[in-house]
Amino acid sequence: MGPSDTIAAVATPPGRGGIGVVRVSGPDVRRIAAAILGRLPSPRHATLADFRGAAGEALDRGIALFFPAPHSFTGEDVLELQGHGGPAVLQLVLERCLALGARLAEPGEFTRRAYLNDKLDLAQAEAVADLIDAASTQAARSALRSLRGDFSREIQALVEGLIELRMLVEASLDFPEEQIDFLSAAHAREKLGELQARLATVQTRARQGSLLREGLQVVLVGRPNVGKSSLLNRLAGEEVAIVTPLAGTTRDTLREEIHVEGIPLHIIDTAGLREASDEVERLGIARTWAAVEKADLALVVIDAAQGLAPEDAAILARLPPGLTVLRVFNKIDLTQDVPHVEPNGVYLSAKTGAGLDLLRQRLLELAGWQQTGEGIYMARTRHLNALAQARTHLEAAQRNWEALELLAEELKLAQNQLATITGEFTPDDLLGEIFSRFCIGK
Ligand code: GDP
Ligand code: ZN
Repeated sequence: MGPSDTIAAVATPPGRGGIGVVRVSGPDVRRIAAAILGRLPSPRHATLADFRGAAGEALDRGIALFFPAPHSFTGEDVLELQGHGGPAVLQLVLERCLALGARLAEPGEFTRRAYLNDKLDLAQAEAVADLIDAASTQAARSALRSLRGDFSREIQALVEGLIELRMLVEASLDFPEEQIDFLSAAHAREKLGELQARLATVQTRARQGSLLREGLQVVLVGRPNVGKSSLLNRLAGEEVAIVTPLAGTTRDTLREEIHVEGIPLHIIDTAGLREASDEVERLGIARTWAAVEKADLALVVIDAAQGLAPEDAAILARLPPGLTVLRVFNKIDLTQDVPHVEPNGVYLSAKTGAGLDLLRQRLLELAGWQQTGEGIYMARTRHLNALAQARTHLEAAQRNWEALELLAEELKLAQNQLATITGEFTPDDLLGEIFSRFCIGK
């Protein structure tokens, strides 16, 4: 059962382009197509036609594509009008569809209908948005893998394994005398162990995908003049921060996104940390600590020529205990050192660029990036949380093996968590939130 009204939107991005597409989906598509094109185009064939207004005047001339339900993206009747990609002409065609009774689609509404009509599950629908948003080829590839259902199939297999196990446990609840024998004869405990191992693998892969999608928040800290801004410029490959030989000039926080092997690193350059000499500097330093609070990783830049000074040690000591910290000993061109990695940090020169590749490598390691390549599928924080919850419930199931009621309950909770990923068990407000982040026309 799908929504009963007809929606329309411009599906191509705003601005000018070679072609622009107006997409229409719903029960009125046949009537709207007949009115605009003079007839219903034959299904799934490119039909060259005039797109006509109410008085029969041509609004544009282009290709019409008609996909009858259920063999369409949304599962409903869909019409695509591919005209010229100018904002005014597309608006004319869209307004004509609206005048004929269609309603302007909400963000993500086409994909939402595809989900409601079982054309996609929720993880696949999210992958549609992730593919569109992918900022690197690696991210695009893993989003496509999720869109094609690789991730969903793994989740489905886990759910099926859990259902099988639950049936065994529920059945033995009905025969209290011989229940443990019954379960051991069915190798139930081994099966649970296998499911746990399988879940752990899915978790690892999903974490990689999530890394490709979300990236890492990296903050550059250190006292003034150690070379934080120079390092950011080097990493970004362009001049974004103002580099001056005067201490304490980076007053504000500057951010830059770079990609290392497809992983987005959101790097924030901060004001140098020292005793503030005026109000502006004090504000900058307060902002620095606020940025540190939100970061996944802190790069603490230290002047290699001066070595670890008491001020550097004070900064290190003030960092939150849970934060991953990498020390960067900068300016090795002054000490005639060669770039290298030591347990205490990376030695490099922002000025010459020597050692930057070592830094990137170390950043990837600390991010938990494993180049498993082909197996990665796109995943979101929401998916990672559900996987982690499911894992906790399976661990509780192992611990409560002899307490069958508890065991059954934990297995059910694990299954429900996994089902939220594909959307079989997902509250409506979550659906609303997921689809509202899509662009219009998708
Ligand atoms: P920040 O205050 O930590 O952001 O430091 P800046 O990036 O503004 O750099 C302060 C000074 O150190 C500038 O004069 C830079 O040119 C210089 N500097 C930065 N990195 C290096 C380096 O690797 N070697 C040398 N010799 N000088 C550097
Ligand atoms: Zn700076």
